[in-house]
Amino acid sequence: MSIFSPRSLPEALEIANNHPTARLLAGGTDTMVEINFRHYEPTDIISLRHVRELQTFEQTGEVYRVGSAIPYREFENGSYAHISQALSEAARTVGSPQIRAAGTIGGNLGTCSPAGDTLPVLSALDAQIELASVNGTRVLSIHDFMLGVKRNARASNEIITAINFSKIDGYQGYAKVGVRNAMVISIASACLVHDPKNQRVAIALGAVGPTIIRCRESEAWLSDNTDLSTNSPISADITNEFARRVSAEARPITDHRSTAEYRKHAVGVLAQRLLKRAMQ
Ligand SMILES: Cc1cc2nc3c(=O)[nH]c(=O)nc-3n(C[C@H](O)[C@H](O)[C@H](O)COP(=O)(O)OP(=O)(O)OC[C@H]3O[C@@H](n4cnc5c(N)ncnc54)[C@H](O)[C@@H]3O)c2cc1C
Repeated sequence: MSIFSPRSLPEALEIANNHPTARLLAGGTDTMVEINFRHYEPTDIISLRHVRELQTFEQTGEVYRVGSAIPYREFENGSYAHISQALSEAARTVGSPQIRAAGTIGGNLGTCSPAGDTLPVLSALDAQIELASVNGTRVLSIHDFMLGVKRNARASNEIITAINFSKIDGYQGYAKVGVRNAMVISIASACLVHDPKNQRVAIALGAVGPTIIRCRESEAWLSDNTDLSTNSPISADITNEFARRVSAEARPITDHRSTAEYRKHAVGVLAQRLLKRAMQ
């Protein structure tokens, strides 16, 4: 087994291209658990820790470009906590301070678990994922990037370099249900984004399907039945029906963390709660 520690993105891409079975390592908070439990035996490792290009942040007009290897801590309460309230709330729920100091959004995307806490946020924000290889860069919608349970569209020689999303002026929030209040993987989660300028609400669910679910039908129903150009309070009838519809769009399973019935119920409650917060 070889461990590579490239100092630049071109160097990392060259190594990834020459070692297609190598594992990329960012914070290592998923990979080291896999190795320790012997669920995965690495052939080669490419550490991304010293690749500065993956730690950069840019804002061009209303669009943010977030380096894939920036740790959660920076979104929770650090330099980039201001760019997305929902991302900040999601980052705050990940693991412990130690995990948030090491773990990255690039790693959450790389693992692509349906319970990954940043993924519903990236879905509701319609984020664009930047993937680089020695052949160049391509940009994929988050909706095309996430393919299924721990499956994504990254090719073996590609590195996720950045995540792009637009600034939103309205409310955005993330909520998660787990068996404890901290250090817990989601049983169900939801992110709601209200974009008054474009008169729409986006809602994405985590841990209730093989991958993140965008509730397009519920979103369309809400925009047909509510004025989304403001955040004026809406009736209980609307929030109840929205919750019912979001629940109906979930496709959960029963597993060691929870039952399908409870998960379906929980995402309805989360959807209702977030919608009420948005429309105060
Ligand atoms: C105690 C503990 C608690 C946890 N709690 C939570 C939680 O509450 N919520 C949650 O969502 N997760 C949680 N996790 C899981 C983990 O912290 C996250 O998934 C984290 O985002 C992984 O990021 P990382 O940088 O550590 O990834 P790594 O372990 O370095 O990598 C994970 C995967 O992504 C790939 N990868 C990493 N970076 C890139 C890149 N730039 N381009 C392409 N592929 C890449 C790797 O090859 C690997 O397949 C927890 C883990 C632990 C150990």
